Order: sequence, then structure tokens, then C-alpha cells
Amino acid sequence: MRRFSIQTKIVLPFLLLFGVISVIVPLLTVELFAWKYSEQFTRETQGWLEVIIETGFITEDIEKVKDAYSVEVMIFGSDFTMNASTLRDLPDSEQQLEVLAESMRLEQVKQSFQKGEATHVTHDVTLGGKHYKVFYHLLSFGRYYCLLRPMDEISEAKRTLTLYMLGIAILVMTLVALISHRIGKNITEPITDLVGFTEQVAEGNLDEQCAIKTQDEIGDLAVAFNQMTQDLKQSRDKLIQAERLATAGKMSASFAHEIRNPLSSMRMLSQMLLQRPHVSDEQRQSLEYILEEIERIDTIVKGLMDFARPTRLNLERQSLVPVLQSVLALMEANLTHHQIQLVLELDTELPAFAFDSDKIKQAFMNVVLNAMEAMSEGGTITVSAFKQEDSVCIKVIDTGIGISEEDIEHLFEPFFTRKTKGTGLGLANVKRILAEHAGTVEIASVLGEGTTVLMWLPLNMR
Ligand code: ADP
Ligand code: MG
Repeated sequence: MRRFSIQTKIVLPFLLLFGVISVIVPLLTVELFAWKYSEQFTRETQGWLEVIIETGFITEDIEKVKDAYSVEVMIFGSDFTMNASTLRDLPDSEQQLEVLAESMRLEQVKQSFQKGEATHVTHDVTLGGKHYKVFYHLLSFGRYYCLLRPMDEISEAKRTLTLYMLGIAILVMTLVALISHRIGKNITEPITDLVGFTEQVAEGNLDEQCAIKTQDEIGDLAVAFNQMTQDLKQSRDKLIQAERLATAGKMSASFAHEIRNPLSSMRMLSQMLLQRPHVSDEQRQSLEYILEEIERIDTIVKGLMDFARPTRLNLERQSLVPVLQSVLALMEANLTHHQIQLVLELDTELPAFAFDSDKIKQAFMNVVLNAMEAMSEGGTITVSAFKQEDSVCIKVIDTGIGISEEDIEHLFEPFFTRKTKGTGLGLANVKRILAEHAGTVEIASVLGEGTTVLMWLPLNMR
């Protein structure tokens, strides 16, 4: 089982990183702000206290100070008894002498003033559940003047700022989540496609091609994968063909002989019957038809035997042109009968080289026969033979019906035929014969215009 998808692996670190940042940054900002704000707050209140002292307000009515600055004022005697206060609603428990002195930190204040080191003494104090910053001033007779400024403002400002920061953090996190999700999707989508395609290939469907959606590494991967699938398909097709060839070979070898023997008996008997006196016209026609069909079976069986026979080459160093000419001479009558014009472009200077003339004759005949059969309405067959580099090429061009693109890749498969009376073994044999000579055969064709067959034979067969 997969624990984390790539998408999660991309989104999660970003979210964690920004999560941490969005917690730490606002916390620091709020603290920094509060610190700066409280500095300013202290300076300002200190200023007020100085004004109060300078203007002599300090001895005036404390209520006036309270109204003027929205602060509370308390005055304690040197023995910490409360002389005056603007704070009225303190709970009873806090009004007791010691408790109040303790809350107001009067002992510490006293010590600070006694040491004389501090001119301004301040403390944070909680009275009646409210927070104050208290500014102390030493009056005559060791009395203490306390200016209490409520700290609600600071905590209120802190709260507002925290809320703002939290809002921004949530917004940033949402944006980060969305953007990283999008990035993750962009990356994973083509990969998911590729995985789907791989599964199809694994199921044996090699005809599909993976769509290339991106021009990056994943796109390259898709291209490589398509190439691989194509190669795989080609080698699979080759393997299938090789298997078919092998099967066909085995089958042919075992059947061909068995068929040919009874076939010759049938041919002989039919011919004997034909020669008998008193054969009616009707019987004669039937016998001729039987003989014709026997010939046809014989051709197929012969093709099969050629195809299946374990071949041993009878190599002989000789000229090619006379061999080709002998085949064409045999076919001349047939070509004329089909109103086919023969154009010869045979290079008579071709060097002699080693080949099996019977087999090359057979291959060449098959190709010329195919050309003839492709031109039932007549046409032209151009036969040329020429040398190119270390090879000799026999080229046969016809102006026949041509071959469809779909058929062209199956031409050399045994039993592939488009003819009602064809065996489909002609080109399979041609290919085999050329391969035995370490040569190749190529076919190019345009449907409706004609076909070109090139047979390449090496001059120096290894
Ligand atoms: P067959 O001639 O018995 O059909 P071949 O192996 O010789 O078998 O040829 C296979 C098929 O290739 C033919 O049925 C035909 O459709 C096609 N073909 C071969 N040569 C030509 C050609 N010159 N013009 C058109 N089609 C051809
Ligand atoms: Mg043929």
C-alpha cells in the first residue's frame, strides 16, 4: 500500500513550513509591538507625572487629575496607610492595610526611594481584577503619590493585533495550500496518465500511444515510453511472424509429401480417362476441370514445399543478367497475352558473383508474376539490374493496382494473399531466398499507381 501520494509529499512540507512561519512571525510581531507600545506608554505617563508635579497639581484635588488623564490616584502615608484614593470599588479583602500595601508593592518602592537610585519608580499591579501600571512619587513626610494607569489599552491593542495576524496567517496558509495543491496536480496528472497507460501496456494493448501533455522531464518520459511500446510491438509482431513461419514450415513439411503422391495418381488416372474412346463432351469437360484443379493444388503444395524445405544453397559464381533473361524468356508469351510491355534496363557490365541460380530464378519469377497479376488490364513492367556499392539490385517496377498501406506490412507473411487463387507464399519465399543470400527485399507502392520491388544481393556473400 502507498502511504503518501506525490501530491501529499509536495503539499504537506509547504503547509508545515508556512504553518510554523505563520505562528512564529505573528507571535514575535505582537510581542515586539507590545514591548514598543509599553515603552511609549511608560514615557507618556512619566511625562504626565512630571507635568502634575511641576504645575503643583499634586497637592490639588486628586479627582481632577483622575478626570484630566483618565487615571487613578492613591496617596499612602509613610506607614503605608491610605490617605486618599480615587479607586472606590475595591473589594473589602483588598482594602486591608497589609494586603493593599503588598499589592501596591510599597515595601519595594520604599527601598528604591531610600537607596535613592531611582527617580522614577514603576510597577505592574493588579487591583480589583484590573491591571495597572503604577508610577510612584515621593511626597513630603515620606508619603507616596501613586499614579495608576490602566493597562487595558495595551492588552486590547495586543488582542486586536493578534486577531489581525491570525487572519493573515489563515489567508496565507489557504493560499499556500491552494498553490501547492495546483503545483502538485500539475506534476502528478501526467504521471497518473502515464501509469494508466503503463497498465494498458501491461495488459497487452501496445497500439495505444500516451498523449504528451508537457514539454518537461515527464514529457520526455512519455516520449521514451511511447518509443519503447512501439519497439515492443515491433518485436512482438516479428516474434509472432517467426512463430507462424515455423509452424507453417513444420505443417508444410509433413503435409506436402502426403498430398503430392495421391495427387500424381489422381492426375495420371484423369489423363488416362481423358484418353479413353467414347468419352462424352460433358465428361471431357469435367475431367479437364478436375485436371485444372489438380494443377492448382499442385502449385500450392509446391510453394509449401519450397517454403518448408530445409534449403542448402548451391552457390556458383556467374553472371546475373542471363539468369534473369532466361526467366523473362519463359514468361514472354504470357506477358504479351496480358498486353504487358516489358522494358529492360539490365546492366550488362555487372560483375559475376556467387548465387544459387535456381533460387534467384524462383524469387525473380515470383516478383514478375505478382507484377503481371497486378495488371489485368495491361501495363508496363520495367526490369533493371544495377550495381550499387557492394551489392547488386534487381528492380521490378509495375504500373498495376498497387498495395494499400495496411497490406504492405503483411506482404512477407506466409499465406497473406489478396487473390482468390493466391497461395500467399510467393513473397514469403522471395524474402527467404534473399535472406539465404544475405540479401534483402524492399517493396514500395502507391495504391492505384504501381509497385516497385527491390531485391538486393551482396557481391561478396559472407
Ligand atoms: P500471392 O501472389 O499468392 O497472393 P504473394 O506472397 O506473392 O502471394 O503476394 C502477397 C500479396 O501481395 C498479393 O496477394 C498481393 O495482394 C500483394 N502484391 C504482391 N506483389 C504485388 C504487386 N506487384 N502489385 C500489387 N500487389 C502485390
Ligand atoms: Mg505471388
